[in-house]
Amino acid sequence: MAHVIAAPCVADYSCVEICPVNCISPRAADRDFDDAEQLYINPDVCIDCGACVEVCPVLAIFEADCLPEKWRHYAQVNREHFLGKGE
Ligand code: SF4
Ligand code: SF4
Repeated sequence: MAHVIAAPCVADYSCVEICPVNCISPRAADRDFDDAEQLYINPDVCIDCGACVEVCPVLAIFEADCLPEKWRHYAQVNREHFLGKGE
């Protein structure tokens, strides 16, 4: 299981630096950093520490098991962001 970023994300990058395993993208060095509409959590790397939840100003981050029904598909949206990136 992992944490998931859902629709409310405003891409303010507050969560990126706090993540102890650097699993939130895009990061400053990534090509899609400048025009990202939301950020994503790599579910294969996230260790479920919960640190990102505390810093998100819009409550966009949930444990996968606790995603509101209307945003449940964001678990797959987050996962798909990393497909083929070798991360
Ligand atoms: S729960 Fe922890 S490891 Fe997972 S994305 Fe948030 S800060 Fe990173
Ligand atoms: S802290 Fe919240 S709003 Fe900001 S980038 Fe992370 S998930 Fe998106």
